[in-house]
Amino acid sequence: MAGTEDKQVKTWICSVCCYQHVGTEPPKKCPQCGVESIYFDPVE
Ligand SMILES: [Zn+2]
Repeated sequence: MAGTEDKQVKTWICSVCCYQHVGTEPPKKCPQCGVESIYFDPVE
């Protein structure tokens, strides 16, 4: 982790299956398609 203090709640979207997750961080693993958190992009 890069040590950012930014803990805003965001909507994260899986770039593989478009699963949406709301929280301060993306899930460790997509519950729908199983990819890692790096595949989640925050929605502005
Ligand atoms: Zn997914």
